[in-house]
Amino acid sequence: MNIDAIRLRLRTLGARPSHEGRLLRAWLQGRALDAGPHTDSNRFPKALQAALPALEAELNALARVRSEHPGEDGTRLLVELADGQTVESVLLPRDGLCVSTQLGCAVGCVFCMTGKDGLLRQLGSAEIVAQVALARRQRRVHKVVFMGMGEPAHNLDAVAEAIELLGTEGAIPHKNLVLSTVGDMRVFERLPQMQVKPALALSLHTTKAALRAQLLPRAPRIDPGELVELGEAWARATGYPIQYQWTLIEGVNDGEDEIEGIARLLAGKYAVMNMIPFNTVDGLAYRRPDAERAAAIARSLHRRGILTKLRQSAGQDVDAGCGQLRARESKLAFV
Ligand code: SF4
Repeated sequence: MNIDAIRLRLRTLGARPSHEGRLLRAWLQGRALDAGPHTDSNRFPKALQAALPALEAELNALARVRSEHPGEDGTRLLVELADGQTVESVLLPRDGLCVSTQLGCAVGCVFCMTGKDGLLRQLGSAEIVAQVALARRQRRVHKVVFMGMGEPAHNLDAVAEAIELLGTEGAIPHKNLVLSTVGDMRVFERLPQMQVKPALALSLHTTKAALRAQLLPRAPRIDPGELVELGEAWARATGYPIQYQWTLIEGVNDGEDEIEGIARLLAGKYAVMNMIPFNTVDGLAYRRPDAERAAAIARSLHRRGILTKLRQSAGQDVDAGCGQLRARESKLAFV
């Protein structure tokens, strides 16, 4: 189901624009659809009122919590979709939420469990937004990052539709909507056309084009320098810094050459570098650098004038934590 289909259905049932907005706002806030107050001037048409219970049940079925997994840096939710498939959302600190945009992912980053099985299916825009409605039934959500399972650029129509709704009826400030991509030209072409202007996170992971092609095998072959220039143009257009994502993997991209490369690429740029030490998991043959090495890299970049944050795993599409719950569950299903 996509958001346009929901709007069309409401209109077919006689909803005026004010009714449509009110119902969408109620859904996105995790409230009952027919929450009052009802006055003569804002009463729903009879057909619409009669259809609300069924519609509400359908919207609630778009995303349900299958299981919750609290962690130090957030609570992972294994979310069941209407067809029984599962994706992951993460309740992040400071009212943040990380949502999934696809079931699986075609990019196949070598450090990510989600990419292991390729793309299974796209999420509809309503399924993306339903993750926010679901989280808001538990707590406040004031920031949404599109960094869960999937590459948002590969489902761009649905992601753009979700962003437009969350930035309007969903009452999330535009700079608190963070679209993450491995670097796809379609994103840079689409962003300026959008009414809601999201912030951008770019998955960089290395400053070397050849290594990037190995680590992100089916990402567009864009040179890291060109990617940074495209990001910089968006940062200047919006006034929000670009968040660069970098999964730190021992012996792969944690060397002095990469530190020099980052300093060179990001010098003077409106950017934040998010370093996320790789999360060692079964089935992936990479290792996490020790905490001292990770901290030393962050300090070294700071000294070179690059604003760097050393982050833990939750909510990053690149931590190899993404997809683990689903992978674990699928494994159990076959035992
Ligand atoms: Fe896809 Fe992101 Fe995983 Fe790469 S890190 S395979 S883009 S979900």
